[in-house]
Amino acid sequence: MSRAWLIGAGPGDVELMTLKACRALGEADVVLVDDLVNPDVLQFARADAQVVYVGKRGGHPSTPQAGIVAMMLAHVQAGRSVARLKGGDPFVFGRGGEEQQALHEAGVEVEVINGITAGIAAPAAIGIPVTHRDHAQGVVFVTGHGAGSAEPDWQALVATRMTLVIYMGMRRLDDIAAALLAAGMSADTPCAAIESATRPEQRHALAPLRDFAGTVAHAGLGSPAIVVIGGVASLALPRTQRVDDLGREPQ
Ligand code: SAH
Repeated sequence: MSRAWLIGAGPGDVELMTLKACRALGEADVVLVDDLVNPDVLQFARADAQVVYVGKRGGHPSTPQAGIVAMMLAHVQAGRSVARLKGGDPFVFGRGGEEQQALHEAGVEVEVINGITAGIAAPAAIGIPVTHRDHAQGVVFVTGHGAGSAEPDWQALVATRMTLVIYMGMRRLDDIAAALLAAGMSADTPCAAIESATRPEQRHALAPLRDFAGTVAHAGLGSPAIVVIGGVASLALPRTQRVDDLGREPQ
């Protein structure tokens, strides 16, 4: 019987993918790969699997969402098992929920396999525990992408006093910092941006809110990056080195 999986590939480091994700990937006839997925995870796919890249980075046009769902449906209906690989966790931004709904409406049940989301992995990669109890009673995952009516209610978020973890926020960092200051957040609030977390090219910048957008711009950090705003960002380690679980330093 053909199957369909929605698989989280984790934040980048191949070893952060779950055993279940590796196993499902190894069963698939067809693998549809998103942008932020580290292509190295394809080592767990079958050698004869058909691999389709549907991302939009690197100057290639992205495959429209409806096209991806149609492709999955066509393969499943032809009796092939399909693994849809998404960066991080499939249900944290990245439109996995919409794909599940569309497939469900077309009568196809999709199995969801969680992944480690960048919003937790990226802070952790520089030593930031997003819910350290001395600093926060919780964490809010929020998109920085929206503008206008899709803009998060920054005022309400500041009032929660929780750690803010912002996805897709790099292009609007100036506006976001200004909105947080306008909403009454202290200009001294520690902030961090972590680019390409858990990958060899990982970089980060730290600064208080008042200087944050400028510091990030000066460091030349860009997407993909996670922004962490709140007291927990003060716990970032001064020097972090990524070491794989065999204790080797990355090449
Ligand atoms: N489903 C993904 C998020 C998709 S939205 C997850 O759970 O992680 C895409 C955003 O995720 C990027 O704009 C960036 O904010 C963040 N992101 C994904 N991978 C990242 C990484 N390795 N390092 C830093 N940010 C990352």
